[in-house]
Amino acid sequence: MGKLALYGGTPVIRQDELPEDLFHWPIVNDAMRKAQTDVLDAGNMSGTDISRKFEEQFAEWHGVKYALAHCNGTSSLLAAMYGVGLGPGDEVICPSITYWASCTAALGLGATVVFCDICEKDLQIDPASFEARITPRTKAVIVVHYMAHPADMDAIMAIARKHGIKVIEDVSHAQGGHYKGKMLGTIGDVAGMSLMSGKSFAIGEGGMLLTNDFEIYRRAIRFGHYDRISKVFSPEEFKDTNVVPFGGHKFRMHQVSAAIGLEQLKKYESEIAEIDAAMKYLWNGMKDIKGFRMIYPEDEGSDKSGWYASRFGYDPEAFEGVDNVTFSKALDKEAPGFGTFCNFPLHLSSVFYNTDIFGHGSPTASYFLPPGVDPGKLTGELPVAMTINQRLLGEPPFKKFYPELLDRYIEGAHKVAENYKELLVEEKVESQIGNIALTKRKS
Ligand SMILES: *Cc1c(COP(=O)(O)O)cnc(C)c1O
Repeated sequence: MGKLALYGGTPVIRQDELPEDLFHWPIVNDAMRKAQTDVLDAGNMSGTDISRKFEEQFAEWHGVKYALAHCNGTSSLLAAMYGVGLGPGDEVICPSITYWASCTAALGLGATVVFCDICEKDLQIDPASFEARITPRTKAVIVVHYMAHPADMDAIMAIARKHGIKVIEDVSHAQGGHYKGKMLGTIGDVAGMSLMSGKSFAIGEGGMLLTNDFEIYRRAIRFGHYDRISKVFSPEEFKDTNVVPFGGHKFRMHQVSAAIGLEQLKKYESEIAEIDAAMKYLWNGMKDIKGFRMIYPEDEGSDKSGWYASRFGYDPEAFEGVDNVTFSKALDKEAPGFGTFCNFPLHLSSVFYNTDIFGHGSPTASYFLPPGVDPGKLTGELPVAMTINQRLLGEPPFKKFYPELLDRYIEGAHKVAENYKELLVEEKVESQIGNIALTKRKS
């Protein structure tokens, strides 16, 4: 028996001692309950009047001209891609470490996804890796503000403008966040984002597209919002097609989501502030642990809104090679809530190279590319994306700020760090990246 709870020692804090609201998300109040009942009682689930009101307030919050409510984040991102004109034979660059919905829909537009690497320091798109993958066919870049951290938008925008590339922001992890004082989702040409229940701005299934560009807004409407086509195009402009949406999609938001969203807007900033206070308190207590590295933006006016799925740097070398999976298990036993991985590297999926999705008789990803151009070669090697999962740990996703409780989490982290030698006997653990083995273990 060891000191660590993982080996039978007494945990610093037990699961049954945790208050119910510590990790509970989303936070639902009576106003939200009433708002959804009102929509149901009025039989107004499928209209757009409430969604328009939500759009107006969402746009105002961001200081952008246009917000277009969608049924989910995936559709808002597809509409954003169509909005900037992404089409057959175009390439779109996206970081490999993100959720698949950031970019996969591009294949349905006939475009090819080329992946670039992320930066170890902040887990965001690596501007140099992005620039190195630009070809004459590159039409757009998808910038994900990954795990709530803002991407380096100054660098990305400068490269994109130099090469005439459109910038799509995926704000699914960082609603309400800032980069050097600017709101995320307002810096590129267009933004799409998820508002599903797990995300920081949680309203149930829902997504939002933001832009200041009327042409992008109109194209997004033409693609998936048939009932609004006549509002942004003249009869002359749609006379041949009538109001048949070009995408053949119906992307409007469910109005129960919109009604909940209107309530969420009223309380979101205060919820985010509480999360921020809890996470900063935790870090104030953990920052002296050698081998731990907080991932947080350094620029003034930048923040980590909501700390969605937040991860921090873990250096196995500081613990004689103890891998992050084992370390996080020990942390979690000591004080429940610590985690490990980030997303699986997308560029390992054959969907982006070899899969014949539409039965064209050849791989979809290269169907519209000039002969001989290989999407796999365009992506090439992505060393950080391939190994980053071994050097991360996840903070417990605190939603409430209880300092006395956080003191015990801090104590738990120190206890594991001080007694890591007990972990050296643990079996070697494979990471979720298939056969990429983690640091070799002593036994
Ligand atoms: C959740 C998510 C999406 C997709 O949004 P849905 O609402 O699930 O369709 C897109 N991009 C990222 C980065 C996400 O995390």
